[in-house]
Amino acid sequence: MHEGQVIVVTGAASGIGRASAQLMAARGAKVVVVDFQREAGEETLRLIEDNGGTGIFIQADVSKAADVQEYLEQTIKTFGHIDVLFNNAGVLQTFSQFEDIDESHFDKIINVNLKGVFLGMKHALKIMNEQGYGNIINTASTTGIRAEHSLAAYTASKHGVIGLTKAAAIEYVKKGIRVNAICPGGVATAITAGVPEQLLETGYVPDEFPNMRMGRYAEPEELAAVVSFLASEGSSYMTGSVLLADGGLTL
Ligand code: NAD
Repeated sequence: MHEGQVIVVTGAASGIGRASAQLMAARGAKVVVVDFQREAGEETLRLIEDNGGTGIFIQADVSKAADVQEYLEQTIKTFGHIDVLFNNAGVLQTFSQFEDIDESHFDKIINVNLKGVFLGMKHALKIMNEQGYGNIINTASTTGIRAEHSLAAYTASKHGVIGLTKAAAIEYVKKGIRVNAICPGGVATAITAGVPEQLLETGYVPDEFPNMRMGRYAEPEELAAVVSFLASEGSSYMTGSVLLADGGLTL
């Protein structure tokens, strides 16, 4: 990443998104903090500004096309261009056996985790294609490359994110646009706070839980460092890559 780089981070009110927004800003980027949580999103912006960084907050639901167009329009209006979209907002499914997943819950997981990523990519790619450059980083998960027990909808959504990543990487490889995905394993964020209890309720506790293979969850900052690398010129030959940062979980 470079001084003055404009990066949009969705799901930036918390966890991996907030840590990434803070790291990018500390490294000189102008950050567009996007989240549907207003108070926590504004808090991310305040943390950035208190540290001498620059950014704006835009409240948006990533699963709504109008909101996505709005956050991108605001980005261009404020900063003139967009270098990086970090498509990161996501929700965790309630752990449950496949046959017990409510249709409405399935729709919600797919709408946020898959359609939200699709919409961000679709509208950002149009702008980036006109610019002749751009960089998209999608947050998938280890469940994007293998199944996780009792998480069928989430697993499907994250497999889809990897599909979208590869599809766009092929189409835009000669247009100056790179598209990559990260696959965290377990990260200590709001999303995983209730997981140990839920696993006990389902009666299924994989060997790796709750301590993961490294004996701990990742800190969000450890994922932010990977995002920062993908946003930088250091990853200039990488597109369509699916980067595991899972503490060895999938070994
Ligand atoms: P988090 O709950 O701390 O942060 C997620 C953020 O996304 C929240 O601020 C939330 O308000 C926002 N968000 C949710 N739905 C939204 C919507 N419709 N529109 C706008 N914003 C929305 O969780 P996190 O762990 O930082 O998750 C970030 C990403 O990482 C997610 O895509 C998640 O699936 C993925 N992930 C997390 C883990 C983990 O163990 N924490 C593992 C693998 C993948």
